[in-house]
Amino acid sequence: MANDNLRFLVVMAHPHDFMHVAGTCGIHSKMGDSITWVSMTSGRMTHNERLSDELLKPLHEQDKSIVNQTAESYSAEKAKELEGVANQFGVNDVRILDFTDKPFVVERQPESVEVMRELILTIRPHIIFTQSPYVDGPHGLITTEIDDHTETSIAVMQAKFIASVPRYGQTVAPYSVPATYFPGVYFPNNQLDFLVDVSDYFEKLVTAEGLYKSQGHDEKYSRRRIELSLGPTGQFGGVPYAEGFVQEKPQTLTHIELSKYTIARTPSNPSLSKHSKT
Ligand SMILES: [Zn+2]
Repeated sequence: MANDNLRFLVVMAHPHDFMHVAGTCGIHSKMGDSITWVSMTSGRMTHNERLSDELLKPLHEQDKSIVNQTAESYSAEKAKELEGVANQFGVNDVRILDFTDKPFVVERQPESVEVMRELILTIRPHIIFTQSPYVDGPHGLITTEIDDHTETSIAVMQAKFIASVPRYGQTVAPYSVPATYFPGVYFPNNQLDFLVDVSDYFEKLVTAEGLYKSQGHDEKYSRRRIELSLGPTGQFGGVPYAEGFVQEKPQTLTHIELSKYTIARTPSNPSLSKHSKT
């Protein structure tokens, strides 16, 4: 197989963020590539819709088992969910770090960069998927809002840099990660660098989305969410469902390469195609 032994390191802010790249991970784990999922935080303060809903009710109507649930038990619930999700996509190496979310700020938890450096030096990934490091706001303005996702990316980008720089006394060779890709969900479709056709993973993605019960997901919501998030990107690429990616920097090639899939999807004789414009 052309893609022999690729190692993927996927670093996200919260357990739910892996859904942005899950279909692609499923494809690669099936190809025999190794995939490690690392959540920077347990998501203990994130997406607790159940708690929000409960706190909106009058005091006497609130379900105390929800209101008094501890952050630890909520985190444990989310960890179990993530394991179930990873299972759907053949990912066995799932790690949840205990940095604090809401907010996760690299400057306040600088050890996160060191931890990432260690991970990079140990796993030595060919490809990193991580959150987008770019910030922007309405009207093209840069926001000052602290965002766990952007901060996670900052930690990873810094770690990538320091992993490539030799340190006195280090016992492993420095390592430069060849390719880093950001999930397309943070970008308009026409800014994506490539799409992965994940149509075969549609049902698994719906099932996985539904496993995030701690976030109040159910089957109906999950199906609609996957349709709405991966459908438009798929349509943009001419397939039912696709995950998009933006690359950190272009690859250097010896010559221009088209993927086998791109060539296979192009009619070899344009006159045979009913839809040919020529
Ligand atoms: Zn998130």
